[in-house]
Amino acid sequence: MQVIKDYVAEKKDRIRKTISENDNIKMVIIQLGHVPASDRYVRNKIKDAEEVGILCELDNLPETTTEEDLLKIMDGLNHDKSVTGYLVQLPLPKHISEEKVKLAIAPDKDIDGFHPLSKTIPATPLGIYNYLKDMDYQFQGKNAVVIGRSNIVGKPMAQLLLKESMNVTVLHSKTLDDDKRFYLANADLIVVATGHMHTLTADYLLKPDAIVFDVGINVKEDGKLTGDCDKDLPVAFQSPVPGGCGLLTRMSVIDNLIELSK
Ligand code: NDP
Repeated sequence: MQVIKDYVAEKKDRIRKTISENDNIKMVIIQLGHVPASDRYVRNKIKDAEEVGILCELDNLPETTTEEDLLKIMDGLNHDKSVTGYLVQLPLPKHISEEKVKLAIAPDKDIDGFHPLSKTIPATPLGIYNYLKDMDYQFQGKNAVVIGRSNIVGKPMAQLLLKESMNVTVLHSKTLDDDKRFYLANADLIVVATGHMHTLTADYLLKPDAIVFDVGINVKEDGKLTGDCDKDLPVAFQSPVPGGCGLLTRMSVIDNLIELSK
């Protein structure tokens, strides 16, 4: 497996070359208020887009924007032919329904792949999947364990792996520890997305040739970021945090936008 940072840098170079011939791709990011983590994600998305030559506009609305006003703005973007795709940065303030917002995005403008009819795929599972494809990973018949069953990571990840004919097991917070041990001991590919540190530790018996993708982003007491897995598990490959699935997720935002432009 290639170091993810290098893989992403190379992929951006490749995309930049294709985009220069096609300079009318435009993305819009809607952000309500300022949550520090969201500010960072938004900054990174703008940077990524600019690096590959995509025009990116940020519409930073006040935190007090009403749901009705937000939906009106989204309706405008849905009908704006100059906009290839857009996303509404989550989390939203409590007075706005995330579900309503996800359903209000026109599927053909949905960069995040959150609308059920969207032809795009949520960015994190897509990023891991594209990386594995580019690494020529042989999926068929191997055992995958996905820990976490959210609509934006666990479930779409499991679907993508199933599509590639893996034997997929999805674990969650109600999985008994003995069962978790059983499934993990046979896993060739493990994706962990729980939002809890130490979900996967060296205490679990793992196949030495297993590969592990750690999606989690947690903040330690010292302020540093850490994943859902303990570091340096005895496996063939483990994606680092930071510098792993986060970078692949950012790459997929661009991939989805290009998909929408077709
Ligand atoms: P959610 O909170 O929506 O889902 C977490 C899932 O993990 C749930 O299905 C839950 O089970 C399961 N779970 C929780 N605790 C355990 C446990 N101890 N053992 C097994 N399963 C458990 O989170 P998301 O899927 O949205 O995100 C997961 C993590 O990934 C977060 O840290 C998030 O910040 C990070 N993330 C990172 C991204 C990146 O770019 N790197 C992008 C998206 C997310 P149940 O359904 O039973 O409650």
